[in-house]
Formats: sequence, structure tokens, C-alpha cells
Amino acid sequence: MFELNGETKQLGIIGYPVEHSFSPQMHNYISEKMGNNYVYSAFCVREENLKEAVEGIRAMGFAGVNVTAPHKVEVMKYLDVLSEKAKLFQSVNTIVNKNGTLYGYTTDADGFYASLKRVGCDVKGKDILFVGAGGATRPVVSLFAMEGAKSITINNRTREKAEKIAENVKNSLDYSVDCDIKLSHYDVVINTTPIGMYPKTDAMPAFDMSLVDSTSYVADMIYNPEETLFLKEAKKTGAKTLNGLGMLIYQGIIAYELFTGTKLPEGIYDEISKNVFNK
Ligand code: NAP
Repeated sequence: MFELNGETKQLGIIGYPVEHSFSPQMHNYISEKMGNNYVYSAFCVREENLKEAVEGIRAMGFAGVNVTAPHKVEVMKYLDVLSEKAKLFQSVNTIVNKNGTLYGYTTDADGFYASLKRVGCDVKGKDILFVGAGGATRPVVSLFAMEGAKSITINNRTREKAEKIAENVKNSLDYSVDCDIKLSHYDVVINTTPIGMYPKTDAMPAFDMSLVDSTSYVADMIYNPEETLFLKEAKKTGAKTLNGLGMLIYQGIIAYELFTGTKLPEGIYDEISKNVFNK
């Protein structure tokens, strides 16, 4: 462990619950590896204490914090400056404190897209299908619209939630999102529901696997288990698959770069994957 001293800068994550988070291990690993004098902890913050917790970032001189569920939207109103993407995606998962001014950023969607690109998948010109329409869906839908996806469809149990995202993307980016499956083939399919996540690993979202084939990429935002039933079934069609670990690692790398104002080396992804996640 690196030495903590009077000059150590504080980082952390706020959420409720937050005990399951891997962010402390990931960020502390990066700081140790890079020889940066930062320490990162997890803070369990209930909804009724969010405002005070954000004020605490300023009062205590924290360098920055990550924000996780359920605060990613609510936290926005307590910040001084929002990035363009935070405004467009209506989500903040990274707060940076620059001399008492709190800046809000969102790195989840960029993290997810970086993980797709890592396996050779570019969304430009592609037909994309999202299964689920929760908090993690909207930023990625917006980013893919910005990145030139040919079509985007959201299939969700509660249709109104898919329609809400579609309406928002239409208003903010003038891009039309479909809420019905109309095509017979999709290039990229993403499970953004928690169905199949540990411990209920024998479940998978209702999905017609004939919509994908060996030319498709099928992704799951879940990373525990490493291969969900959804990904196992997709693999049988010949589709290339990936889980949510890449998203988790890349959103953290981008957040760390924002916290410290430095660029991390290319190889840091593999080092985190190996040394923090044993993958
Ligand atoms: P959320 O806001 O709670 O949304 C969950 C979505 O899943 C909703 O659209 C919900 O449908 C749907 N859903 C849940 N249970 C369902 C069921 N039994 N049948 C059909 N639909 C169901 O969750 P979130 O924050 O978007 O997170 C979604 C997933 O992404 C989670 O597994 C989370 O762990 C993962 N995630 C991963 C990362 C990463 O770094 N890898 C980052 C963020 C999130 P309704 O609208 O009908 O309720």
C-alpha cells in the first residue's frame, strides 16, 4: 500500500447501497501503480443526505467522487457546471472539485462504447437493439445516436419507460428511437436489464435469438457472472459476445483521468483487468 500522509488527496464513490462497488480497488490500484498520492473510499449516502454529502465534497476539499445508483440524476442539481454529455444524457457519475467549483461528468456510456470498440465493434451505420430501459440505458442510447447508429430500438417490459427515453433523445438530438422490434436482424444487441445477474444466474431476458447471427455483437452490462445465460445463448448463434466488465473498467479509467487531469497509459486496462479482477 502506498503511504498516506497530510498531502494525500481524497477520492470516493457515493451511492446506496455502495458496499458492492469495485471502484475503491480499481482507483486505489491505479494510484498505486502511477505513484499518485490519492486515496479512494466508498461512502454510503442515502437519498435524504445527498445534498449535504455533495456540500461535503466542497467543504472537505475532496478532489472528486464517483456517483452511483440511485443518485446519478438527482445529484445534477447540486453541481456548479455540467459537461455537455452530462446535460444531454441527464446523468452524472463523476464529480470533479476544481478549487471549490463542482463539475459533473458522465463516463458510463463512453466506457461502454470503449469496451465495444475494444472487441472491434463500431456502432456507426449499425442497427442496434437495447433490451431494458433503465438508468444505464439512456446515456448509451444517446451516445450511439450521436455516434451515427443507423437505427436504435429499445425493447422494454414497461413500454412507457422506453418511450420516455425515445422522446428525450428526439428532443435533445433530433434522432428517432423505435420502441418496437421491426427488423429481422440486429448488428448489436445489449442487455441493460439485471436479469441473469448473480445469484439468479439461470434467468435471461425474453429475447428472440433468431434476430442475431455470426455477424452480430451481443453485449450484457452484467459482469457477474462472467457469462450470463443471455450471452451463452447468443454465443450459440455464432454472435460475438462481451460482458459488462469492460464498461466498468473503462468508465473508471475515464473518471480517473478527469479526477487527476492526467492521461493513463494504454496498457492500464489490461493491468486493471488482471490485477484487480483476475481476468
Ligand atoms: P434500472 O434503472 O433498475 O433498470 C433496469 C431495467 O431492467 C428496467 O428497464 C426494467 O424494466 C428492466 N427489468 C428489470 N427486471 C426485469 C424483469 N424481471 N423483466 C423484464 N425487465 C426487467 O437498472 P440500471 O441502473 O439501468 O442497470 C441495469 C443493469 O446494468 C444492471 O444489471 C446493472 O448492474 C448494470 N450496469 C452495469 C454497469 C457496468 O459498469 N458494467 C454500469 C451500470 C449498470 P421496467 O422498466 O419494466 O422496470
